[in-house]
Amino acid sequence: MDVRNCRVCGRLYNYIGGAYRNMCPSCVSALEDKFQDVKIYINDNPMASISQISKDCDVSIKQIEQWIREERLYFSDDSPIGIECEMCGATIKSGKYCENCKSTMANQLGNVYKEKKPQSTKKTNQKDAARMRYLDKQ
Ligand SMILES: [Zn+2]
Ligand SMILES: [Zn+2]
Repeated sequence: MDVRNCRVCGRLYNYIGGAYRNMCPSCVSALEDKFQDVKIYINDNPMASISQISKDCDVSIKQIEQWIREERLYFSDDSPIGIECEMCGATIKSGKYCENCKSTMANQLGNVYKEKKPQSTKKTNQKDAARMRYLDKQ
């Protein structure tokens, strides 16, 4: 048995793994309730900033950013919300990396046995990025 301290309330609980590490079941379900609140809030206030969501939903900015990284929260393209790509620091709407870095990584994987292609133009990259975003939503 793996007994740990909940990082939120400090109580001991039986660790069972899962998406929320170091949290007891009751704090996890409280956080899930909060997540639903935030989702509804974003739906009603698509132009709200992260700090606004944090204040109105009483949830930490760090937690909101974590949900964004986990791709559980999505924002419309005209929303002011953005987090930084972990590779290049570009503003992205969800996940860890921007479309450019994602396609660079995909190309690096795909090109291992191929000859290096000439650098594509920026225009092509943007087109590819748009297509990838479209595919992501499927
Ligand atoms: Zn707890
Ligand atoms: Zn990037």
